[in-house]
Amino acid sequence: MTQATLSGVKRVVGSSTLNTEQHNDLVSQYSANNYASLPVVIRKGEGAWVEDVEGKRYLDMLSAYSALNFGHSHPEIMEVFLEQAKRLTLTSRAFQNDQFGPFCKEITAFCGQDMVLPMNTGAEAVETAIKATRKWGYKVKGVEADQAEIIVVDGNFHGRTVTIVSFSRDPQFKDDFGPLTPGFKMVPYGNAAALKTAITPNTVGFLVEPIQGEGGIVVPPDGYLRECHQICRENNVLFIADEIQTGLARTGKRFACDHEGVKPDMIILGKALGGGMMPVSAMLCSKEVMGVFQPGDHGSTFGGNPLGCAVARISLHILNRDKLAERADKLGQAFMGRLRSIGGDKIKEVRGKGLLIGVEFHESAGVAKTYCKQLKEEGILCKDTVEQVMRFAPPLVVEQKDLDWAFERIKKVLA
Ligand SMILES: *Cc1c(COP(=O)(O)O)cnc(C)c1O
Repeated sequence: MTQATLSGVKRVVGSSTLNTEQHNDLVSQYSANNYASLPVVIRKGEGAWVEDVEGKRYLDMLSAYSALNFGHSHPEIMEVFLEQAKRLTLTSRAFQNDQFGPFCKEITAFCGQDMVLPMNTGAEAVETAIKATRKWGYKVKGVEADQAEIIVVDGNFHGRTVTIVSFSRDPQFKDDFGPLTPGFKMVPYGNAAALKTAITPNTVGFLVEPIQGEGGIVVPPDGYLRECHQICRENNVLFIADEIQTGLARTGKRFACDHEGVKPDMIILGKALGGGMMPVSAMLCSKEVMGVFQPGDHGSTFGGNPLGCAVARISLHILNRDKLAERADKLGQAFMGRLRSIGGDKIKEVRGKGLLIGVEFHESAGVAKTYCKQLKEEGILCKDTVEQVMRFAPPLVVEQKDLDWAFERIKKVLA
């Protein structure tokens, strides 16, 4: 290709000259209306900071729902990404590529599991876990055909496919999307006795978020995960941890299950695994469970692609090298303490672990979204989860001085 046509191509997607209002107009005219986005239009990001099309800077305290644990444009992840993008991006699993084997070895070692099945988005990895668990139920546990049951908890969020929304409590997630997928049973979150009672001979798995993210940053009582894990073991039921949001150092440990010393039978990862650059997700489990998959049983065109594998490998390396879990723990504890010190009559509770922090408002203070809009004016980007709860989840590379800066503004808005 000649130099002239190359720069012509660049002009097609080059930096836009539209302002915020013009961008928002384009989106409302041409995009599905499935997100109530804040109207800020970001054009650039570096570390924990982003800049909008008018040049205004904001501290990113959402981190794309924890997909940006390493921040925006992490220099080393970017270097690996660009180098790999120039060399090889996609082969499909019809062939092997030279990033896939090393990725499998490194991620299984990181997670303490035998085997991995890579996908792209979180919901796909959850679907993979459901399929593996059901097939294990039939082939290994001996459940009668089509009778397998998976127990889930109230307030869960595991993604948006038809099967996954089938076991959501939120009517908006499932109404008008039926017919829904059967085979799921719901128990209250944080109540191990309820799990024990719900188990039948047909129960094959228990799917749980160790801290509920989209459900409102709900931390279960101490000992809950350990007790559930024990109940699962006694009943030959797989304990499946959805660590898509809580994993990879977000809560101050490698995984949120580590806070209770629980090693799940199956782990689901996504979000930050792609280093903030690629959709990369994975389901990890024992050789026995993964062994139920035969060629043709399951797959994904992009799953295990060399570009995704390369960014996942460098991301795991950086997470270990820079001790990001300890960093999240230290920064998070201090920040939560300061948020609690705000007091006043708006805040009902501050809760969370590491840098996954929820602030719940009293009904009388109005909905969390109001305060998200006010914080945006102050230069802080964050988002409500459920109506009354606001989440603070900055990139784990955020600096103490940035959090100090943010706290002064948060205090002004929430006091
Ligand atoms: C975000 C999320 C998912 C879904 O991931 P997608 O990449 O959006 O499909 C599943 N489980 C949990 C706990 C999540 O936070």
